Amino acid sequence: MQVRRAPTYSGFCGGVKRAWNRAVKASQTGEETIYLSGKLIHNTPAMRELASLGVRELSGADIAEGNLEGRTIIMRAHGEGPVAFADAEARGFKVIDATCPIVTAVQKIAVQLENDGYQVVIFGHRNHPEARATVAYTDHGFIIETLEEAQALPHYAKLASIAQTTVLQADYADLVAVLRTKADHYEDRGRICGWTLHAQDEAVALASSVEMMVVVGGRDSSNTIQLVRVSEPHCPTLHIETVDELTVEMFAGRSVVGLAAGASTRESDIAAVISFLEAIPAAVPALAGA
Ligand code: SF4
Repeated sequence: MQVRRAPTYSGFCGGVKRAWNRAVKASQTGEETIYLSGKLIHNTPAMRELASLGVRELSGADIAEGNLEGRTIIMRAHGEGPVAFADAEARGFKVIDATCPIVTAVQKIAVQLENDGYQVVIFGHRNHPEARATVAYTDHGFIIETLEEAQALPHYAKLASIAQTTVLQADYADLVAVLRTKADHYEDRGRICGWTLHAQDEAVALASSVEMMVVVGGRDSSNTIQLVRVSEPHCPTLHIETVDELTVEMFAGRSVVGLAAGASTRESDIAAVISFLEAIPAAVPALAGA
């Protein structure tokens, strides 16, 4: 079967590469365990690989046990709020900050807007670590997830919006249209990450030219979920984390399949999926009753 991969934006983005390299390097310093403030990136197989290198999330049990003075903790790529940094320092950790620089820039914009007197709203997922960390840098910023929430907002003198870096551009544009009506002075400072935008564009182009799409990435990866969303209107789309989730029968009757991958998907997982798909004879006849 022919496999067409998203040509440029599939697999580790710049921010994930940077965080990953820092974690791997830290694992080579001889410390038995390197702690993470949370999932370094949203990809379970990648997190398993880090665990095999001795890099794992800090747990409540670790904290209860104490004795963390001088140990290393890595702040996740999605960022952490100021309290998490202060807490790590108070416990005596050596802190490695793996926050993606694009996320750090968004955090700074949020603070600046608030200092300029704006009510800051962050469009993103309420439980996503990036949105939560960004809002934590403001005194009274808040996250909104839906247009309905935006419509229900009161009128502000000064209102500004920013966006979680991995949301869908079209969703954010719809939100901006509503927020414009909610303030005397409205400022749109949403900055969706360029990698995310290009990956979404490539996924749409690919999905429009193949019979089926496979999107490889973490189930909890926001940018991967958006790739699935933009592909689905164009062709049947599967979201998988690893090749083990695929069967030959899933591709019955197909000759050309597209492959997109999230920003935190390892190259080895992508390569395994491509090998699996390329080994399937083109246009396997559909199973009776399938
Ligand atoms: S998707 Fe963009 S914002 Fe998120 S880690 Fe990658 S480069 Fe940074």
